Order: sequence, then C-alpha cells, then structure tokens
Amino acid sequence: MNLFETVGQMGHEQVLFCHGKDPDIKAIIAIHDTSLGPAMGATRLLPYVSDEAALKDALRLSRGMTYKAACANIPVGGGKAVIIAHPDNKTDDLLRAYGRFVETLNGRFITGQDMNLTPQDIRKIGKETAHVVGVEEKSGGPAPVTALGVFLGIKAAVEFRLHSQSLDGLKVAVQGLGNVGKNLCQHLHEHGVKLFVTDISQEKIEEVKRLYGATAVEPDDIYSLDVDIFSPCALGGILNSETIPRIQAPIIAGPANNQLGQEEIHGQMLAAKGILYCPDYVINAGGLINVYNEMIGYNEEKAFKQVHNIYNTLLEIFEISEKEEITTNEAAKRLAEKRIMNARNLKFMAIAS
Ligand code: NAD
Repeated sequence: MNLFETVGQMGHEQVLFCHGKDPDIKAIIAIHDTSLGPAMGATRLLPYVSDEAALKDALRLSRGMTYKAACANIPVGGGKAVIIAHPDNKTDDLLRAYGRFVETLNGRFITGQDMNLTPQDIRKIGKETAHVVGVEEKSGGPAPVTALGVFLGIKAAVEFRLHSQSLDGLKVAVQGLGNVGKNLCQHLHEHGVKLFVTDISQEKIEEVKRLYGATAVEPDDIYSLDVDIFSPCALGGILNSETIPRIQAPIIAGPANNQLGQEEIHGQMLAAKGILYCPDYVINAGGLINVYNEMIGYNEEKAFKQVHNIYNTLLEIFEISEKEEITTNEAAKRLAEKRIMNARNLKFMAIAS
C-alpha cells in the first residue's frame, strides 16, 4: 500500500498512528477535514485482520463523518479512530493510553463510543482527555433522536416521490427493530402506517407486533415486499446486486450505516430502477446532532430544530439529484463539498482581511 497515495485519494488532513509497548496499544486516528470545525468521530475497537484493513476503515468512516456533519449543518469536521485489539484484551490501561493519544491532538479530534466500547469505557478514556463525548447521557441517548430524523426523512421522500403530505395508509417494511427501528415504528404507527417488520430476535418482533400491530416477515423476505418504503434499520451493505433487483418499494429510507454495498454501482442501480434512495448519512444524522448538542450544552429545542432540518436537506438533495441527473448519494456528496468549500473560503477571507 502506498500510504500517502491512499490517504491523499480521500483528502485526509492527518492520520495518527498510535503505538505503545506498555500497555501494548495499536490505534489509528484519522482526521479527514476540519474546515467546519474540530474533527468528530467515535472510536471502535476491533481485532482487524490486518493493519491495512484498520486503516481503510478509519479513512472511510472519517470521510463519511465529514459529509454527515456538513449535510447536518453542524460545525464539526470528520474524524474516526480504531483501536486494533480483541474485545477480551480491552483493559483500563489500554483505554487510558488511548486517551493520552487523543489528548495530544489538543481538541482537533473529539471522540465517543462505537463498536465494542461502552459509555463506561469513554469515561475511562476521559480520565486522560477532555475531548470525549457521550460520557453521560444528558438527553436520553441518540436513538430516539435518530429515529425522529429518519421519520422526517421519510416524510420528505414521500412528499417528493409520492407527492403526498400524509403517510396515512402507506406500507413500510422495517428491517431491524433495535433502538432506532423500534422508535421509528412508533412514529410511523402514530401516523397511520401499516408496518411489515423483521428482526433476528423473535422477542423484538413480538413486542412491535403487540405495540404497533405490525405484520412479521422472515428476514430474507423483507426486500421483496410490495410496500411504499423499505427502511433498513439493521445492517450495512444490504443494498447490493443480489437485493436491489428484488426491491419493489419506490423509496428506501432508513438509519443503517453504509447501506450501499458499493456506493457508485449500487447507487446507480437504485436510480436506474427509479427508487428514491435517502443517503444514509443524511437521514441518520440525528445521533450526531444529539451528541454535538450534548457537547455544547444540551438544549432540546435547538437540537430538535436541527433534526427537523434533515427534512429540508433531503428535499434539497432530491432536487439537486433530479436537476443534475445524478444519484442522490452523489447529490449529497456535492452538497456537503459545497458547504465545506464555503467554510474554507470564509476562513480564507477572514485571514486575508
Ligand atoms: P441496534 O443494535 O439497537 O439494532 C439493530 C437491530 O437489527 C437488532 O434488533 C438486531 O437484532 C437486528 N438485526 C441484526 N441482523 C439482522 C438481520 N439480518 N435482519 C433483521 N434484523 C437484524 O442498532 P440501532 O442503534 O437501532 O441502529 C440501527 C442501525 O442504524 C445501525 O446500522 C446503526 O449503525 C445505525 N445508526 C444508529 C444510530 C443511533 O442513534 N443508534 C445513529 C446513526 C446510525
């Protein structure tokens, strides 16, 4: 791997390789872009198969954070960190050593909890650095806010694609009934939607059936249902060459991260089928908006106003996509890049004056 070429291709500003012997630590902090503000991105701990796989994950996810924050109109940049370790080897010493590396960046990178890390772990990292978020849940956690954002995104998609202001009587297929999926089902049920749901947990299915009168289907049958909206609320990579030909819904709108198997190819496949895809990092930004607001001092009214903007941003993206005849994921990227460029120009003008 040509390191600088790989990093340069995605436009990263800085990549920090953290290494230590006592305790044994290997971590990578990727800072993609700080034009809008300090890089924000959670830390995941995984036993990656190779250092290269860890670097690729950090680079890809940090770039995604830049676009997510820009589309959400939040003044933070994009970052992400990975600790290369097996969860069984997660010790307090390791977490504190990682915290000292975060501290060396002096606030250029702010982090929180992702795979295999808990709020308690973040508290341990926070013993060495103030640049952590999600230590305490000041607002009830991100999932309800994420679900609200997805619900508003669905409303925008229905308005644009089905020319209706109302969800009443629509059919929605929900894949995954976890923290976000279940909250989303509640919003949809309250607005007269007929729910078709699946999960690998029978207990979760039974609960949603009981609470919201949902119809359960087998996990593999969720793609081919004759519904108005397919909402992926579980896994990444589920929009691919095998599943897209089976999807009948004219709208895909859900919170799962990295839904497109291959961004360009599968984005194009959806567009060719006339399916309106809500880019995942735009529709699921409620969680980031929530964390950001916790960081600056939680104000529910302000946070919810920012979440409501997801509706407007998606409409803007759909319009760009239609006007410029590009996929919605490409339109989202262009919108984010425009906002980043504007921020850079403003900074440049401020320095020059
Ligand atoms: P979660 O872990 O609480 O829920 C995921 C659910 O998916 C679980 O109920 C699980 O049993 C189910 N599931 C797993 N495999 C499945 C399969 N093959 N078929 C059907 N269901 C399956 O996660 P969450 O917090 O609800 O997040 C859902 C998705 O949204 C994830 O991709 C997450 O990364 C993304 N996301 C979440 C937030 C947030 O605020 N929680 C924010 C942004 C993005």
